[in-house]
Amino acid sequence: MAKKQFKAESKRLLDLMINSIYTNKEIFLREIISNASDAIDKLCYLSLTDDSVGLSRSDFRIDILVDKNARTITVRDNGIGMTMAEAEANLGVIAKSGTYQFRGEMDSEKAENEDLSIIGQFGVGFYSAFMVSDEVTVISRKYGETEGVRWNSRGADGYTVSACERESAGTDVIMHIKEDSEEEIYGSYLEVWKIKALVKKYSDYVRWPIHMDIEHQERFETEEKNDDGSPKYDYRMVTENEIINSMIPIWQRSKNEVTDDDCIAWYKEKNRDRKDPCALVRVNAEGAVSYKAMLFIPGEQNENIFAGDNKGGITLYSSGVMIMEKCDKLVHEYFEFVKGVVDSPDLSLNISRELLQHDRQLRIIGQNLEKRIKGELEKLMREDRPKYEEFYKNFGVDLKCGICDEYGRYKDFLKDLLLFWTAEDKQISLKEYAEGMPESQKAVYYASADTLKHAVALPQCEEVRKRGYELLYLTSPLDEMVLQNLRELDGKRFCNVVTDDLGFETEEEKKAAEERDIENRELLDFVKESVGESIEKAKLSSKLSTRPCALTTEGGITLEMERYFRNGPSEEMRKLRATRVLELNPEHRVFTVLKEAFESDREKAAKLAKILNALAELNAGVDVEDTAEFTDLVSELF
Ligand code: ADP
Repeated sequence: MAKKQFKAESKRLLDLMINSIYTNKEIFLREIISNASDAIDKLCYLSLTDDSVGLSRSDFRIDILVDKNARTITVRDNGIGMTMAEAEANLGVIAKSGTYQFRGEMDSEKAENEDLSIIGQFGVGFYSAFMVSDEVTVISRKYGETEGVRWNSRGADGYTVSACERESAGTDVIMHIKEDSEEEIYGSYLEVWKIKALVKKYSDYVRWPIHMDIEHQERFETEEKNDDGSPKYDYRMVTENEIINSMIPIWQRSKNEVTDDDCIAWYKEKNRDRKDPCALVRVNAEGAVSYKAMLFIPGEQNENIFAGDNKGGITLYSSGVMIMEKCDKLVHEYFEFVKGVVDSPDLSLNISRELLQHDRQLRIIGQNLEKRIKGELEKLMREDRPKYEEFYKNFGVDLKCGICDEYGRYKDFLKDLLLFWTAEDKQISLKEYAEGMPESQKAVYYASADTLKHAVALPQCEEVRKRGYELLYLTSPLDEMVLQNLRELDGKRFCNVVTDDLGFETEEEKKAAEERDIENRELLDFVKESVGESIEKAKLSSKLSTRPCALTTEGGITLEMERYFRNGPSEEMRKLRATRVLELNPEHRVFTVLKEAFESDREKAAKLAKILNALAELNAGVDVEDTAEFTDLVSELF
């Protein structure tokens, strides 16, 4: 039989496809099953108007037959089938699109990426069989025809077609699986468990039943009896033809048919999660893009060690056929904890399965889902605060990173979901903070330390609290970055009580403070000299009330950031230090003692300066460098 050549461009694409394009070889089965399902759709549709089809809905089926000895997998359907001309036209050409212009000759290595984008534009589903097969035979008979067609190909070198017998309409795709190579154990695709797993993964919701012979153990009563006369049992292998897909996806059913509890039970089973999610979003959208979605917002990380990959992720389906697991292009990273499914018939399987991420429809769906997720979280925050706080404890960091991402591009969308500590036992949202602000308040004050306790205890907070203003207590550099990105709240700047001017002093007071600094210049310089390199300078403070001293910083790097950078990835980063300033409270008794010592006993004054610096360090949650010296200095006081 004369071998026919694939069209030139098809040959080229076929080569690429077999050798490089899909790294994910296992999807071949999904492709072949989807074709079978489409073919059944067509005949089923015809049967609605044409009685002579002679099949009712329940007669349609897909069969997978495995012959390990012959190394073949056959996918059989009783769908519409193909005529010889159709087999040639459909299977002899990969790129059917008229607009397609093959972009000249490309050398395969460097063009691989480019080819990937080209190939994504076409229905190349059928050819994926060649990723795992060295020979594919299609035996098909079109509905209404008496003769069948046999199409056969060993890959890029061409194909043959001939007439053949087939009992009834439908198609068999017989794939002869490649020999195992060093990189790939192709033989595993002949294992029933593997096929079953692939069907579950990709084709579980194909609407037609997928049958396969499954062997399992069965207990049976033997002829013999036990000594006591009781029946004796043994085991034997039996083969049963089973349906291996579940067909109707839970998210396709309406809210009347399936309750939220059903959905949650499904989620827990699917994710092997013992805990309930904290929110469920069910969407049935019709319009420019139709889709159904069922999303779960977990309250906690799934700690079940059998759950496998714990990360969230949304699985994308097109009419029940899985296109992509954990489709990371659907919602932004800040919502990546969301788990669930999105199913849209508008995401055509025919266009591009590999390049769906660039799909416009996908973006529309993603945007809508993000709004729904946000709405659900806001509702939770309003209606069940403890539950929201639990969620926030686990996933708040994703939201915070989202605020800082892409130079704050998503900050307005996300800011209402944030929570901050305002006391050791209370968190509030920015909205709530803004609502509580008195008229007189000029800035949003925050204090930042390594722990909540330290932040609340920072001496610089006292002045703010004294005026009846609430503070936000931050416990991570990420919190600080969040505020830096937000810049302001209701037109009021964020003010770091440690580094920024609190804005409480009048011009006159500021002037008086400057004069006081000049008066005490000699003492302050002496303090700096005594403490040494660790501080940039010493100054008098107007932020302190009951505490004698505090450590503040100047410039962009705060003590929190310094702490964060200390574990940074580069040496350069780890070396970054905040510029420290030792602030002294001129109203405090300790200051008077220091001043007296400075005038009468310089040695004592130097020791006091060191002690004060160490106290300020302790208060700021910073390690005291020379602890032995500190202990000695304090001991001497007794
Ligand atoms: P796509 O399905 O994306 O169009 P494929 O390469 O998978 O591309 O299939 C090409 C065409 O071959 C299909 O559009 C269909 O017309 C035909 N075809 C493939 N498999 C079958 C089948 N099992 N029954 C009938 N026609 C089929």
